[in-house]
Amino acid sequence: MAPQAKIKALPQPVQAEVSSTKIVDLQAHGHVTPEEATRLEAVAERYAVAVTPTMLDLIDRADPHDPIRAQFVPSVLELQQSPEESADPIDDAAFSPVPGLVHRYEDRVLLKVLSVCPVYCRFCFRREMVGPGGEALVGANLNQALEYIRARPQIFEVILTGGDPFMLSARRARELVQALAAIDHVKVVRWHTRVPVVAPERVTDDFVSALRAEGVASWVAIHANHPREFTPEAKAAIIRMREAGISLVSQSVLLRGVNDRLDALQDLMRGFVALGVKPYYLHHPDLAPGTGHFRLPITEGQDLMAGLRRTLTGLAQPTYVLDVPGGAFKSPLDPTYVRETEGGLQLLDGTGVWHDYKG
Ligand SMILES: *Cc1c(COP(=O)(O)O)cnc(C)c1O
Ligand code: SF4
Repeated sequence: MAPQAKIKALPQPVQAEVSSTKIVDLQAHGHVTPEEATRLEAVAERYAVAVTPTMLDLIDRADPHDPIRAQFVPSVLELQQSPEESADPIDDAAFSPVPGLVHRYEDRVLLKVLSVCPVYCRFCFRREMVGPGGEALVGANLNQALEYIRARPQIFEVILTGGDPFMLSARRARELVQALAAIDHVKVVRWHTRVPVVAPERVTDDFVSALRAEGVASWVAIHANHPREFTPEAKAAIIRMREAGISLVSQSVLLRGVNDRLDALQDLMRGFVALGVKPYYLHHPDLAPGTGHFRLPITEGQDLMAGLRRTLTGLAQPTYVLDVPGGAFKSPLDPTYVRETEGGLQLLDGTGVWHDYKG
């Protein structure tokens, strides 16, 4: 659609590309009313805003509860912060031995390669850290992170995140993968990205070839939350990666008003499987500031998971997880199938019947 093409990504010298979207532009194209626009300026001052043309095109402007809109167009509800919410909800800072690197689990580290994203999701758990003004992991800091990995043979996997690491240029992506592949004990490089869905045009053949290197398996975890995000362009980008021999898994966030219905989740998970992407994680939303309107009770999430188990192929089952605040691990939230009773443990079967279990 022509009018939306005016919302441009602003080129920046240091990072590959930095996008941001102004509230006035959202207003000009009918995504927010003039009254909303005034109040949303306060949101935009606090949290980064960007929506790619691909995602703007998907929004049904006649539907104030459109699930794509809910993910990207800011809301005044973001100004409501509750006491349990935190700027660093999963406590990354406590596990960051050198800048840009998080080492929480023995065999794998996270590298935050840059802080920009093609879109800024309103529910983002790193919302206080991501944005166009942030740093990229370059020069001395990158070398320090690589040194840290080189010196620790237990590090089997390096997970590239951000921001969105697919915002790197193909040249920088290639350099990074080569540098990691040159470390003997690193066998897996995993990218976490929203780009294939929200900005599929970035997934060029050149970029895809940059992801691969001798000596490491390349995995990409694709973030999508609603089946409408699988546009023809997104599908083509995903197939390009698959055909290049990249292993693909999915990542979604369970969100009130976006995918908190069984049919939406079914279509989302089936959409992934149909593209050869194995559903991996369904995240319960973290306690990021101003995101209360996206959170639903865990018991509701468990019911939805039970619904997926009842109706869909085993290939389409993600693990429902939460980074428990102050906890050591991502915890699977699946007590749906197990309960303690006075008589002992019981297990639930696929027909909704509980069975005593003496194991
Ligand atoms: C989520 C996370 C990982 C990856 O965990 P997996 O269960 O392997 O997907 C790694 N490091 C940190 C710090 C994380 O938060
Ligand atoms: S793309 Fe990922 S890191 Fe970026 S705003 Fe969305 S959820 Fe946050």
